[in-house]
Amino acid sequence: MQAAQIVSPNQMRIIAIPDPQPKPDEVIIEVKASGICGTDIHIYRGEYLGPYPVIPGHEFAGVVTSVGTQVTRFAVGDRVAVEPNIPCDNCVNCLNNRQNFCLNWQAVGVTRPGGMAQFVAAPEKAVFAIGELTFEAAAFMEPLSCVLHGLERLQAEMACSAAILGAGPIGILLLQSLRLQGAAQVTVVDKNAARAAFASQRGADKTLTSLDDLPQDAFDVVIDATGVLPVLRRALDFARPGGKVLWFGVPPSGQMTDIEPFKVFRKGLTVLSSFTSVRNSYQALDLLQSGRITLQGLVSHRLPLEGFEHGIHILENGLEGVRKVQVLPSP
Ligand SMILES: [Zn+2]
Ligand SMILES: [Zn+2]
Repeated sequence: MQAAQIVSPNQMRIIAIPDPQPKPDEVIIEVKASGICGTDIHIYRGEYLGPYPVIPGHEFAGVVTSVGTQVTRFAVGDRVAVEPNIPCDNCVNCLNNRQNFCLNWQAVGVTRPGGMAQFVAAPEKAVFAIGELTFEAAAFMEPLSCVLHGLERLQAEMACSAAILGAGPIGILLLQSLRLQGAAQVTVVDKNAARAAFASQRGADKTLTSLDDLPQDAFDVVIDATGVLPVLRRALDFARPGGKVLWFGVPPSGQMTDIEPFKVFRKGLTVLSSFTSVRNSYQALDLLQSGRITLQGLVSHRLPLEGFEHGIHILENGLEGVRKVQVLPSP
């Protein structure tokens, strides 16, 4: 099969390797749609976790092509998506329902070969049936799971006012999910005017293209969906006294920024983060199947496997009206 491999930071190539064979507890999936995530950019740039070389891709869906001897829930031909985080279920964190902090954490597309390949192996426990969802839609199971986990952490109140910083795919999923939770007013900021306009199509009450225009001390909740350090820092300014700030976007590892702790103290802020998800995959699939989350227009680019690097390039530079880029390894 063919796969896109990140050999080392900033080094990518297409490789031909033998098709994966299932271990007893594994399912082999032919990948039909595989989203490029901001995390993949961090992996490509050497700013995340895990070893090199790696086949990235942790947001994907496809068709089961073979199953291991112990697999009971799936058969060849099933349409599925994968929860990439694989907990051991036997460490102190797993046994405390903190599987995202598993001490033996493995993740498809981070620590083991991912979905930027024609075929991928995943343990049965990480595989979910997607029903009638398109592969394109089902590849959003993972990012939506992370969004739902973030909102579980945030516990926004009914009728809250919210500011979302960043109108990429995650910002758009946050916007729609917050709406479902009963947010009364959602303002979305993105310096890219086309992205901001897309957010208003998806239900934002107000969109802005500059943080300078966002009122200070004004919002019950402020969510960063950029991971950009100066934006993370400024997120604290926009929360009202007693408000909450969720740093959701993935910042680059190893980089510092300065904040004013007195501001956090004086405003009595709750500052939260959110790492991956905890058992949110069924929730995400149910929401996608309900039609309450609209993905229409969210995928802007569909590229072949060889297009992975180009996809990174247009995402990093905000080119060509980019929103979500999906790779179709086995169209
Ligand atoms: Zn992701
Ligand atoms: Zn564990």
